[in-house]
Amino acid sequence: MLHIEDLRVEISGKEILSNVNLHIPEGETHILFGPNGSGKTTLMHTIMGFSGYKVTRGRIVFKGEDITDLPINERARMGLGVSFQRPPTINGLSTRKMVEICATGGPVNVDQLAEQVHCTPFLTRDVNANLSGGEIKRSELLQLNAQRPDLVLLDEPESGVDLENIALLGESINNLLNRGIRRSAKSRHIGVGHTRKKSALVITHTGHILDYITADRGQVLNNGALQCSQNAREILKWIREYGYNECYKCAN
Ligand code: ADP
Ligand code: MG
Repeated sequence: MLHIEDLRVEISGKEILSNVNLHIPEGETHILFGPNGSGKTTLMHTIMGFSGYKVTRGRIVFKGEDITDLPINERARMGLGVSFQRPPTINGLSTRKMVEICATGGPVNVDQLAEQVHCTPFLTRDVNANLSGGEIKRSELLQLNAQRPDLVLLDEPESGVDLENIALLGESINNLLNRGIRRSAKSRHIGVGHTRKKSALVITHTGHILDYITADRGQVLNNGALQCSQNAREILKWIREYGYNECYKCAN
């Protein structure tokens, strides 16, 4: 699904990523760990194609096609979707309208999708305007549920969400990734009836999200490169116990 080779990325002339190699097969969920400022968001935004991230070496291959130089809208059309760590407020655009715009694969039942992720009350409000941390994250998931991307990039989905709301968020993410979904007569309309799992790259700082999703693999971003590709829960255990500095020492 996603294949990244020897990726080097600069922001304003400064090297942020030096040598990233990443391979996410179809249907797999990979977790990306790393301390603040290590370049996690940079990697995600570069995959999605946001401006300001200059690829100076290497390439990004999605579904067998080199997308390194493709504009962001074409990447989205090919099936790449992202949820932001800190999504912006969009004044003048209602959440309902935004969800309709996101439904690039055809019309969706906005009310049903909103109900699933408990977003009904703010469909009429502007995107992210005065929403709580948890509501903003659910609104992001609502948009992704309408877009139905094949590779979902989630940047710290649990940040700013209190523990009481994290279960709801975790379940919504699990549903988005087509895991643990009950089939129903309605599934055709709400886009959860696929048997094929989506691929995902999930950035997490706290690791809470790992209680709800099945991670196939985790990796740690260190000094511009990925290291320690193994079981995500194992990595989290080590980070919690020893911190990143110790964790880096056992690079393998
Ligand atoms: P993380 O998501 O791991 O916390 P980021 O990818 O957001 O890290 O940031 C990596 C580094 O790049 C940081 O030092 C950050 O300050 C820098 N950076 C990110 N965006 C910009 C930008 N637009 N201009 C200049 N530096 C940036
Ligand atoms: Mg970040």
